[in-house]
Amino acid sequence: MNTPSVETLLAWYDQYGRELPWRTKVDDTSSKKNAYRIWISEIMLQQTTVPVVKKYFTKFLDQWPTIESLAEADSDEVMACWAGLGYYTRARNLIPCAKIIVQEHNGKFPNSSKELLKLPGIGPYTASAIQSIAFDIAVPVVDGNVERVYSRVCGLTNPLPLSKPEIKKIAEQMTPSERSGDFAQAVMDLGATVCKPRAPKCIICPWQRECTSYRLGLQDKIPYKITRDPKPARKGILFVCLNENNCFLLERRPQNGLLGGTLGWLGSGWDNKSKGIFSDLEGGLELPGEIVHVFSHFKASIRVRVGVVEASEFAGLDIQWIPKEMFDVNTLPTLMKKAYIHACKHFDFCNLEESMRISRS
Ligand code: SF4
Repeated sequence: MNTPSVETLLAWYDQYGRELPWRTKVDDTSSKKNAYRIWISEIMLQQTTVPVVKKYFTKFLDQWPTIESLAEADSDEVMACWAGLGYYTRARNLIPCAKIIVQEHNGKFPNSSKELLKLPGIGPYTASAIQSIAFDIAVPVVDGNVERVYSRVCGLTNPLPLSKPEIKKIAEQMTPSERSGDFAQAVMDLGATVCKPRAPKCIICPWQRECTSYRLGLQDKIPYKITRDPKPARKGILFVCLNENNCFLLERRPQNGLLGGTLGWLGSGWDNKSKGIFSDLEGGLELPGEIVHVFSHFKASIRVRVGVVEASEFAGLDIQWIPKEMFDVNTLPTLMKKAYIHACKHFDFCNLEESMRISRS
């Protein structure tokens, strides 16, 4: 195999690299080197696609443009801004991390992996991305796109994830000491726009000449993957209910656990939550059909019930009443949003009847 050329890829990146809100033009170093923007974008990009993150990133940065403003932010507002992005632990760690940087690092991100890894929510990948992109330190940055590109260029026959150590070694050897941040982003961009998971555009690829998979006609097969068992299924129920004063009943979910710290409908079953005050509701009207939501480790099929509840039954409990006219479904995580949309499709919330009363059993 010919060694892929760093210079060729950087020249391609200078011309065809993606313009993303957390980046600026290749030769503009002012905001490119802004570790705060890079950190927020990298946290959002974990398990989330670039088109989705673009919208959230701009909104987030408008609201909290600096690390200092984020350190002072209200956590409920941060969670609301994150609603729909999923993996809410990421959002819960933002304010604690911002506070440490402001209080212990004078508002500046550290550039050593040792210090970065001490910060909440920053793991090895994010630490290396910040080091590389914000500080131009020559460390390998390996995400899914990068794994695919190196697997194909080098024609790796080991399947993922077994080939990860091999890929990391290749990335280490390839990363140049100059423009290492640009190089890391160039490999990511190549994977995202040219060496795509399906139908890679080898014809326009700057590394085509060096690519083993292309030469062997294996670009649609590599990277090989170990086949996984299908995700286990869980069933459950969510209650979309109003009280007699037209307020929706929601709970702030426990910080640790599924959808931790987010607002959601009361329910049971799907999240394996033990029986408790929020899972013993009965009655109401069960709507036809169900909603399906796929989490990283299971698939939830959920029936939705609607009805009225009496506020007095919930007195003293840790729940929230949100007046219907102030309710914004976009502040809920996707699963809860789906439940609301399903409810609205089948039901008119202006016509609740006493016969649909939901009560605690
Ligand atoms: S030649 Fe094709 S398979 Fe090889 S790196 Fe380029 S796009 Fe990917």
